Amino acid sequence: MGCQMNVYDSDLLAQTLIALGFSPVDRPESANLILLNTCVVRAKAEQKAFSFLGRMVKLKRRNPALRVGVVGCLAQREGKGLFSRFPFVDVVAGPRELERIAEWLMRENASPQKMVATSLTPAPPHPAIYPGYFTSRVAGFISIMQGCNNFCSYCVVPYVRGREISRPPEQILSEASDLLAQGVREITLLGQNVNSYQWQERRSRDFADLLHRVGQLKGLSRLRFTTSHPKDLSDRLIQCFAEIDNLCPHIHLPFQAGSDRILKMMRRGYTRDHYLTLTNKLRKTVPRIAITADVMVGFPSETEADFRLTLDLIERIRFDSLFSFIYSDREGTQAARLENKIDEDTKGSRLRRLQALQNRITLEKNKQLERQNTWILVEGASKKGELSGRTPTNKVVNFIGDSSLIGKIVKVMVKKGLPHSLWAERVK
Ligand code: SAH
Ligand code: SF4
Repeated sequence: MGCQMNVYDSDLLAQTLIALGFSPVDRPESANLILLNTCVVRAKAEQKAFSFLGRMVKLKRRNPALRVGVVGCLAQREGKGLFSRFPFVDVVAGPRELERIAEWLMRENASPQKMVATSLTPAPPHPAIYPGYFTSRVAGFISIMQGCNNFCSYCVVPYVRGREISRPPEQILSEASDLLAQGVREITLLGQNVNSYQWQERRSRDFADLLHRVGQLKGLSRLRFTTSHPKDLSDRLIQCFAEIDNLCPHIHLPFQAGSDRILKMMRRGYTRDHYLTLTNKLRKTVPRIAITADVMVGFPSETEADFRLTLDLIERIRFDSLFSFIYSDREGTQAARLENKIDEDTKGSRLRRLQALQNRITLEKNKQLERQNTWILVEGASKKGELSGRTPTNKVVNFIGDSSLIGKIVKVMVKKGLPHSLWAERVK
C-alpha cells in the first residue's frame, strides 16, 4: 500500500521470502505468512492499513498457524504499540529494518517470539536479487536513496523513513544490470528527492552523474526517475534530458500549492515564480517534455484567494496530469499544530474544482495527440487481445496486438485521446 517506494520494498521482501523457501499464494486465506507493507503519508492510506489489519483477525482465527507482520511506515510510527492494538501481530519492522524480517523468520522457527525493529539508522539495504524474480516484468524500480531531510511542515516522511542516505553508485549500477539481465527494459530511479542524491567517494557524484552512468547501460531502453524537488532541480539535471538519449521526456515535479504564502508555511523552499521559471526552462530544453506534479488543497489557513492561485498555476502550466490530495494532519508535524484548519466540506469542494480543471486539461492534451505517431514500450495485456504500454511521456496507451509484442518498443498512431489514457493502432 502506498508509493512506488513501497512497491520496491515489497519486491525486496518477496525476494527474501522466496530465497527462504516461501512461495506466493493467490488469496490471503491460503497464506501462512502475511506481511502488510504500510504507508502513513496521508490519513487515507493509514486508514486503509488499519482496516486491513482489522479484517485480519478473522484470518488468524481461521488459521492459528498464520503469522502476521506489519512493515513500513505505520510499523515505524506505531512500533510495539501495534501488539496491544492487534495482539495477533507477530512482527513489526520499519522501512529501514526490512532486512531483519529474514532474521526473525529464521529465529522464529526455533522459538516463536515477537520482534520489533524500528531503528532509523541503518543504511539502505543492498537487495539480494532473487534470480528470475523480474523475468516477467518490462519495467523495474531501483531505490537510490532512503529517507528525506526536507521536513516540509505537513509531511511525516522524515520521521518514519529517517534522514536521507544515498546508496553507492556501484550498488545501483549492479542492481540495474541484474534487472536488465532478467529482461527488464525500463528502469525508474526512486527517491523522495532524487535531485539531492550525493555520493562522495574519490570524487563527488551527484544525481546528474548517476543518470549519465545508468543511461549508458547496455540494453536499457528507457530511463525514468521520481520524485524531483523544485528547490533542488539544477540546470545540469535539466540538461540531462537533452543529453541522455534513453532518458524519457517526463518529469514529476510536485508543486503542492500556487500561493507563496502557503508555500512558505509548507517550508517548500521555492516560490511560484521559481516554479514557473523551472517549467519554462524544462520546456525550452525539451519542448515535448511531459510535466506532472502533486498538489494539495486545504492546507491550514488556505483562503479562497490562495486556492485560486493554485488553480491559476495549473492553468498557466497545463500539466499533463496531476495527483491531487486533501491535506490531512499528520501527528508530530509542524502543520498539525497550526491553527485555522480548513473544514472538510471546503476541502472536498476545492479538490473537486481542482480535479475538474485538470481533467479538462488532461483530456485536451490527450486529444491533441490524436493522429500523431508515438513509440510505446509494451508492458502487458490489459484486456483480452488488448495490449498496454506507455509513451516516452508516460501516458498509458492501449491498442490491439499480439502478446508476443510485450517487452518490445512499437510504433503506434493515436486514434483517440481519452480522460486517462490513449487509444491507438499499430503502425507497421
Ligand atoms: N517526496 C515527494 C513526495 C512524498 S509524499 C515530494 O516532496 O514531492 C507524496 C505526496 O503526498 C506529496 O507530494 C504531497 O502532495 C502528499 N502529502 C504529503 N503529506 C501530506 C499530508 N499531510 N496531507 C495530504 N497530502 C500529503
Ligand atoms: Fe515529505 Fe517534503 Fe521530504 Fe517530500 S520533500 S518527502 S514532501 S518532507
